[in-house]
Amino acid sequence: MVLRNARLADGTTDFGPELQNLVVTDGLITSIGPADGATSPDDIDVAGATVVPGLIDAHMHVLSSEITRNPGFGPPPQLKGDEPRARELGYFVLAAMARAVLAAGITTVRDVGCDDYEAIALRQAVNLGVVPGPQILSCGRIISATSPGGMLFTAMYRQADGSDEMRKAVREQLRAGADFIKFMATGARSVQLEDPEPAQMTRAEMRAIIEEAHRMGFRVAAHAEGLDGARIAIEEGVDTIEHGLSLHRKPALLDTMAQRGTVLVPTLTTFHDLAERFTDKFTPALVDQAKRQLDEAYATVRAARDAGVTIALGHDSGPPGDAAIELVRMVEGGLSTAEALAAGTRGSAAALGLADRGTLAVGQRADLLIVDGDPLADIRVLNTPTAIRQVIKNGGMWCAD
Ligand SMILES: [Zn+2]
Repeated sequence: MVLRNARLADGTTDFGPELQNLVVTDGLITSIGPADGATSPDDIDVAGATVVPGLIDAHMHVLSSEITRNPGFGPPPQLKGDEPRARELGYFVLAAMARAVLAAGITTVRDVGCDDYEAIALRQAVNLGVVPGPQILSCGRIISATSPGGMLFTAMYRQADGSDEMRKAVREQLRAGADFIKFMATGARSVQLEDPEPAQMTRAEMRAIIEEAHRMGFRVAAHAEGLDGARIAIEEGVDTIEHGLSLHRKPALLDTMAQRGTVLVPTLTTFHDLAERFTDKFTPALVDQAKRQLDEAYATVRAARDAGVTIALGHDSGPPGDAAIELVRMVEGGLSTAEALAAGTRGSAAALGLADRGTLAVGQRADLLIVDGDPLADIRVLNTPTAIRQVIKNGGMWCAD
């Protein structure tokens, strides 16, 4: 496959304004060079549209149940008196979710917490070609200390206490087919009875999780809102910090992250959700807390950029396919368009530990997005469905509709 007359952008390399030809062979980018005027009937002339790497959402919840959180997606809310809905309806919702995500140019997602291992079932369906969708990496269940959140997220958490139980909890996720491990270093901002400020696990518990996963060759993500939980997780060698909004208070920790390659997934959108979008769905105390956290999250993104920390795109919201709004928010928060694009591509690839994607370079996997307009001039084109012209996953065309 030859894509002719393309503007190229990945936020990492400066390709300049000249149009290029990009050649894909057997699912890989095999050549990038100046447009030369030659044509063959099989070539695709993109006529000045921009080719970027497929976007990667490093923080998604693959949930069939979470329809209320996704206005504009999935079946309408059920009314009293209506026919009961089959539990299995959820699997069709998952398939529609996968399709919507891929159509938006998101070719890889990292599921950071689903119900009853549904993300692993969806991963199978995509990998076996049953439904179109992005490549999915899933953590299985989130490992949490016994906590109030465990009462709300009954099908999403694996509660455990003490080092040995943490090891067992890690092993259970690997048995279930998890691609990486996620744990709750602190409480969650969406749970009234949890204080997200203190560390919710002991250092020994976090160490046991990280050591067990790393020994087996798996990466580890830590949900970390307050500073102490983030600090211990970073010191114990976690690979990604989810949310991490408090880190601006301790620049030395950001320096440590930069040195070690620990990736920050700031999830700005989720703070907007709680502070602004879904204020009628959460307790007033949680909404007030989210308003404070929102400012902190933006301060941390800027401080992380200044410290040289790798930043990743994590939507942590809905509707499915809207993840690039996170890049728009990063630019509104002070990142350059190139920095935001790099976060959604190379940065997220680093978060997932995937070196084979995230930039436009020979040898990289051909996960590509063809967009009208120039995301380096206006990042919002990545979040404009009508601007998405074509999505290519692993060298295969997926026609956006
Ligand atoms: Zn989340």
